[in-house]
Amino acid sequence: MPITETRSSLHQLSPSKLSAFITCPTMFKARYILGIKSPPSASMVLGRAVHAGLELLGRRRQMDLLVAVDDLINEFNETLKADIEGEGLEIKPDELAKLREAGEQLIRLYLGRYGHEKPVSSELHLDEPLIHPSTGEVYQRPSLPGIEPGELSLYGIVDSVLEEPDGLVVVDYKVTARTSADSSVMLTHRMQLLCYAWLMSRASDRPVKALEIRQLVRKKQPDISVTRLPVPGNVSYAPMFDTIDALLATVDGDAYLSRYGFLCHASCDGYRLCSPLA
Ligand code: SF4
Repeated sequence: MPITETRSSLHQLSPSKLSAFITCPTMFKARYILGIKSPPSASMVLGRAVHAGLELLGRRRQMDLLVAVDDLINEFNETLKADIEGEGLEIKPDELAKLREAGEQLIRLYLGRYGHEKPVSSELHLDEPLIHPSTGEVYQRPSLPGIEPGELSLYGIVDSVLEEPDGLVVVDYKVTARTSADSSVMLTHRMQLLCYAWLMSRASDRPVKALEIRQLVRKKQPDISVTRLPVPGNVSYAPMFDTIDALLATVDGDAYLSRYGFLCHASCDGYRLCSPLA
């Protein structure tokens, strides 16, 4: 895809956009201002297909319906097939067989552990106008080609919401290749978690007591690792709003920093922008 093509998608902000901006403003520009999108890896399509199976489980359990494992696995396989075809990915038959086996194992494991759970919401789409915490003014969308003027909102999809006696628990699923320690999960996903807590605090009268990340670990012996982070009643959303301010100033000034680091790679969406010598 040519990098000169402008496909800004900044009608709304999202946890992913804020996280990308924090990681590297140039990568953010590539993805969300220029619309450069690398094809997903096989691991990514696996994660999306497992997610589709768990979404079906959540929807059925929310309605108190029984769930057959074959339905979930069928949903997983259909999503995997459609995603691979839609993205035009070429995956060798033996690799595809491994992906199917890994996904089916994870879904069976998850169903065995959490099949009894009845969420109050599943795949909850939240869209809340962003209001400046100091001035009380609603944030406005950045001036960019293709963006209609209007209020700027934060949009996010919460995988599952559980109700416990003293508050709500926001659950997020992640399919990973290895188990990450609690501290690492918290550091890696802190902006996403803060955004979810803020969205839920705007959307519900019930307090959010905790955020829970369930890592579905794809390895020889598949595993589910759970990290639960309590949300203090006086949690500060300042880091989220500071990031929004910095992001909008960067977009307004068209000045994007390349945050070179040891995770930089030629497969990064922004590599062609930050690597003039490559
Ligand atoms: S490769 Fe370039 S655009 Fe990607 S994270 Fe590194 S500096 Fe940023």
